[in-house]
Amino acid sequence: MSRATITGSLPKPAWLAEPNTLWPRWRLDGAELAAAKRDATLLWLKLQEDAGLDIVTDGEQSRQHFVHGFLEAVNGIDFAHKVPMGIRDNRYEAMVPQVVDVLTLRGRVHESEARLCRAHTTRALKFTLPGPMTVVDTIADRFYGDKVKLAFAVADLLNQEARALVADGVDVIQFDEPAFNVYMRDAAGWGIDALHRAIDGLQCTTCVHICYGYGIKANIDWKAGLGAEWRQYAEVFPALARSRIDQVSLECVNSHVPPRLLELLEGKDVLVGVIDVANDAIESPEAVAATLELARRHVPRTKLIACTNCGMAPMAWEIALRKLKALAAGARLAGI
Ligand code: ZN
Repeated sequence: MSRATITGSLPKPAWLAEPNTLWPRWRLDGAELAAAKRDATLLWLKLQEDAGLDIVTDGEQSRQHFVHGFLEAVNGIDFAHKVPMGIRDNRYEAMVPQVVDVLTLRGRVHESEARLCRAHTTRALKFTLPGPMTVVDTIADRFYGDKVKLAFAVADLLNQEARALVADGVDVIQFDEPAFNVYMRDAAGWGIDALHRAIDGLQCTTCVHICYGYGIKANIDWKAGLGAEWRQYAEVFPALARSRIDQVSLECVNSHVPPRLLELLEGKDVLVGVIDVANDAIESPEAVAATLELARRHVPRTKLIACTNCGMAPMAWEIALRKLKALAAGARLAGI
């Protein structure tokens, strides 16, 4: 086994949802859909174990999207009247639901997936939730009228679900905050404050994932214009190093992130992206190990965890499986 994990999401099998799509339609409904989600989750759990990952996830097989999967369980959001909105500073447009009332949880959000995974693996279990700032950037607010107020309202709900996930047996809770790389100043301020609200009182390891997005065209075009050195992390990492978050997951391989920026995370576990999710070429174990070696010049070996750059949800199923094996093999080769 090697100290390796994925960011969180994996592609859904074609019998569960449309393949190769970021917002896939489900193939089934009702009890059949619930059973298919369960089967897909167990399948990926087994494949992650077989590959040799020591921290496993549910592969987000039960949610259509990493943000809306949580929001669908929240009262006060109108999903029936979605509106177009430019998200991630207008990088791309998405149809988003509207906040129309006080936000409350309808009940548990991910209880069945978390308990299913816990019952079927003895490995460390990681569960992902969207970060408050990224949620605020992915819904249209017609009620709170203030981003920070809305972020803290969301953080309270995330905390409620996160505490319950810990009771279900989850070992690591990761908050996905791609928005941190877009609104850096706010991220270092109220973004981290809202994360602290979300992790309040959690008796588990906590993580934040910050990336340059899925391997979709809008993101690839955006990255092409970011210049020879990507400095976004430099604005947020010092504040994260001072935060109470235990781990930081970041994009590394095939990026223009200067590796020395990892030193800004002193004291934290660093989940280094060694697998490119924007590219179908399968990394060799040697290439994965080389990226880890590069990171090791800036992060102590005991603080390094091998990871993917981002979620693999929109990838081809077979490609994701092969990349997952390369991830674990490379981590083993590097002695991580
Ligand atoms: Zn990501």
